[in-house]
Amino acid sequence: MNNIIFFGPPGAGKGTQAKLISESLNIAHLSTGDILRNKLLENDNLANELKEIMSAGNLVSDDILNSIVSTRLNKEVNKGFILDGYPRTLKQSDFLDKFLFATSNSINYIFNIQINFEILKHRILKRSTEEGREDDKIEVIETRYNEYLNSTQKVSDFYKDKYSDIYHEIDGSLQIQEITQKISQILKKSWKTANF
Ligand code: AMP
Repeated sequence: MNNIIFFGPPGAGKGTQAKLISESLNIAHLSTGDILRNKLLENDNLANELKEIMSAGNLVSDDILNSIVSTRLNKEVNKGFILDGYPRTLKQSDFLDKFLFATSNSINYIFNIQINFEILKHRILKRSTEEGREDDKIEVIETRYNEYLNSTQKVSDFYKDKYSDIYHEIDGSLQIQEITQKISQILKKSWKTANF
């Protein structure tokens, strides 16, 4: 089974890699950022509340995220999936672990895409001109990066300790194709080990 988590700071290229790998494995790509951005289009009270939180670069509440993810995962759990942008807090990782346990599933691969802040800033500002995302402004980037350092990195470190055998560090400063290649090699290598 291919149940995969991508970790990494905003702008590390998680979304790009998750999309490419999900297409090549033909599994669902669950980007919580994309799901939330789609919700914003509904323009109701919840959308307005989310917009305020997201455009400031803060994290949306765990309850909202856990509910979104469990609804989506219920559909994909037996087919394989990539989580991109979730879990971002220890409460979310706890919820995910319980959800997977209850559905007799587990995570098989974790990829942590690492990159330094200067390269990130440059990439995010480039993305802001290409995609026009509200939260890609220079003032917001620092808040998002700090949310990552204060919260998500702890979750990633927790998984690194707990599941060191399936946790893989990836150099995010490489070219997109090189990163995809490295991830694909890891996936292929462990399929081989599993087959022999
Ligand atoms: P992303 O596209 O993953 O950078 O997410 C964009 C924004 O959506 C984040 O800055 C948060 O405001 C919100 N968001 C996405 N995923 C989560 C999550 N797992 N927990 C809390 N907020 C999230």
